[in-house]
Amino acid sequence: MSGETIFSKIIRGDIPTEFVYEDELCVCIADINPQAPVHLLVIPRKPIPRLVDASPEDKELLGHLMIKAGDIARAAGCGDAFRLIVNNGEQAGQTVFHLHLHILGNKAYTEAGL
Ligand code: IMP
Repeated sequence: MSGETIFSKIIRGDIPTEFVYEDELCVCIADINPQAPVHLLVIPRKPIPRLVDASPEDKELLGHLMIKAGDIARAAGCGDAFRLIVNNGEQAGQTVFHLHLHILGNKAYTEAGL
């Protein structure tokens, strides 16, 4: 669980990737293997491996990620119909050990106004 992951490389620009959103604390990219019509990843620039590795000093950062995830989901056309998921640990399905929030939204569903 080193700090060096594919997300570190993406954040550094070593792997050219479009940022759906970025600021001084986080970036947002499209998931390479989408599980929903909208599937985005909100990734802190700080390489915290898992949610449980965050410390009290990360409180503001974690809040920032949540607030931005909501803004990004709405900007992506999800309206109010989206889910935020954090997989913590290998047994929970975490594969990239750099904390990230999955935004999952069914754009078609929300656009249909159902
Ligand atoms: P986890 O399983 O919660 O760790 O989520 C990791 C996510 O990263 C998976 O949904 C992958 O599809 C996604 N992913 C892995 N490599 C890349 C990449 O290079 N670009 C975008 N998404 C990626």
